[in-house]
Amino acid sequence: MSTPVISAQDLRKTYGRGGGSFEALKGVSLDIAAGESLAIIGKSGSGKSTLMHLLALMDEPTSGTIELEGRDTATLAGRVLNRVRNKTFGFVFQQFFLTANQSVLENVVLPLKIAGVPARERRMRGMAALEQMQLADKAKNRAVNLSGGQKQRAVIARALVNDPRVIFADEPTGNLDTSTGGVVEDLLFRLNRDQGITLVVVTHDEELAAKCDRRIHIKDGLIVDEEVAA
Ligand code: ADP
Ligand code: MG
Repeated sequence: MSTPVISAQDLRKTYGRGGGSFEALKGVSLDIAAGESLAIIGKSGSGKSTLMHLLALMDEPTSGTIELEGRDTATLAGRVLNRVRNKTFGFVFQQFFLTANQSVLENVVLPLKIAGVPARERRMRGMAALEQMQLADKAKNRAVNLSGGQKQRAVIARALVNDPRVIFADEPTGNLDTSTGGVVEDLLFRLNRDQGITLVVVTHDEELAAKCDRRIHIKDGLIVDEEVAA
């Protein structure tokens, strides 16, 4: 078997300290294979977002290890960590909003700007990502003027622009109506299928979860069940 893209061992996460502390993850181990699509499902408050934040190196576990392509990430810090995260991952998170008054293209190329990519190349790659999301005609519009589905496609274009190995999506269709959500889902799975981008998605949506290669059920901070597509 090839090295997993992400390998997590015995992840625990406690928020706060003393009497008011809360153990949101209680020992989660998980390997994510390159190119797979993985759904993380479970009730609200079960620890899904906490797990995703740890896997995406956006927060540190209280204990446990996370390897990225066989390399222990505990040794990464500061600028190096930011660069690795920015280069390796794309994010489709509800809390990562578009900047309303900037153009769609400016929003999409932000990860490239952070990575220090020159303006001309940013523009080319940003437009290519928007084309993949069938949103090139909106490049110059202000983000605030997009519909819900268009906004989410712009967010996916931004997640895609740095040519990531893994896209993390937290409830990517949560705020969309069924048909708009379906379009967004199809685009995400197309990236997984056609470009081999690993897809890790937190969802309440059974149909979306059913489309993934593998489903992990989280309950009270633990993996309680796992299903692999037949
Ligand atoms: P889910 O995404 O499954 O709804 P979360 O991972 O967001 O669950 O949260 C798991 C538990 O941890 C919840 O009880 C939540 O209230 C708690 N929690 C999450 N983030 C924090 C935080 N920053 N401080 C304190 N408690 C938190
Ligand atoms: Mg959540």
